[in-house]
Amino acid sequence: MSPADNAPAHVRALAPYQPGKPISELARELGMPEHAIVKLASNENPLGASPKALAAAQRALAEVALYPDGSGHALKQALARRLGVDPCRIVLGNGSNDVLELAARVLLTPGTSAVYAQHAFAVYPLATQACGARGIEVPAQDYGHDLTAMAAAIAPDTRLVFIANPNNPTGTLAAPEALYAFLRRVPPSVAVVLDEAYVEYLDPDERAPSLDWLTEFPNLVVTRTFSKAYGLAGLRVGYALASPEMADLMNRLRQPFNVNGVALAAAAAALEDEDFIALSKRVNDAGLRQLAEGFRRLGLDFIPSAGNFVCVRVGQAQRIFQALLHKGLIVRPVANYGLPEHLRITVGTEAQNARLLTALAEVLA
Ligand SMILES: *Cc1c(COP(=O)(O)O)cnc(C)c1O
Repeated sequence: MSPADNAPAHVRALAPYQPGKPISELARELGMPEHAIVKLASNENPLGASPKALAAAQRALAEVALYPDGSGHALKQALARRLGVDPCRIVLGNGSNDVLELAARVLLTPGTSAVYAQHAFAVYPLATQACGARGIEVPAQDYGHDLTAMAAAIAPDTRLVFIANPNNPTGTLAAPEALYAFLRRVPPSVAVVLDEAYVEYLDPDERAPSLDWLTEFPNLVVTRTFSKAYGLAGLRVGYALASPEMADLMNRLRQPFNVNGVALAAAAAALEDEDFIALSKRVNDAGLRQLAEGFRRLGLDFIPSAGNFVCVRVGQAQRIFQALLHKGLIVRPVANYGLPEHLRITVGTEAQNARLLTALAEVLA
């Protein structure tokens, strides 16, 4: 008998999150230089980060001997100003992963449940299971969230519903009207976590007025991240916007210094660089068109995406994934999302997309 044998069954049953393969790992395996490898596997920004964010990070490095501001005051003020929300509604996290988990840990215990969709972001079932709660997975409709079925799936013991909009890995988007109708149907005692990790990539008319909804729906929790369009995945910063009561509970539960000082400084500076976000969206829009055209030429089905990635149906996805690795291209198999015939490909620069399409044509031939 060891201490690990006494760990709760729901902890022992956890299957760890499967991240994209790191460039350094593939370089080692293939004996290739790192610069020859293209990673289109984790929805990172191919342009890197805003130079202003990098300069702020550099300045903050001088302070690393000191603990960061545990309240994240400056970043919260910057977010409050930019988003027009009260700082008491903001929870900062070590990536938005952190705030997703905090929302789960505030509400979920053994004997409760969380609702999420089939093919939805893997962190939702993981965070649910880590709390010992039951996951209710609702079948997808055309790969996207079936919001009517999700509202109907809410059980008496349900405390939380997770929605990714757009969803990762499918790239599907729920219309603002559908989301609003959903929020009206959910009992006020059930939290709705609306994960907007890719919101910066949406066109204005695709965007839900989610922050305006916070006052009408005190059970709404909106989460966002600096990992995707802002290009700061390696620094780990995300945030949640919620009712003051929910935000307070999440803030009490989080680690005292959950966001490091370099990340806080970089995120605050990144927020002010609107040009970088606009450029990132333009490059992504062009890349989505380039990939769509390329997939059509190859006769491949794909799921139209509102994010910075596309799920394309290649058939024997594991074989194609391996063959692409041998050509120095890292993409993401999504069999663990119930999509064994698809690969998820992050939109890269024009040159990276072209290289991906050429390699894909070769390995499919
Ligand atoms: C990438 C992603 C996140 C968060 O990533 P962090 O780096 O932890 O902020 C959250 N939700 C979805 C749907 C994502 O794809």
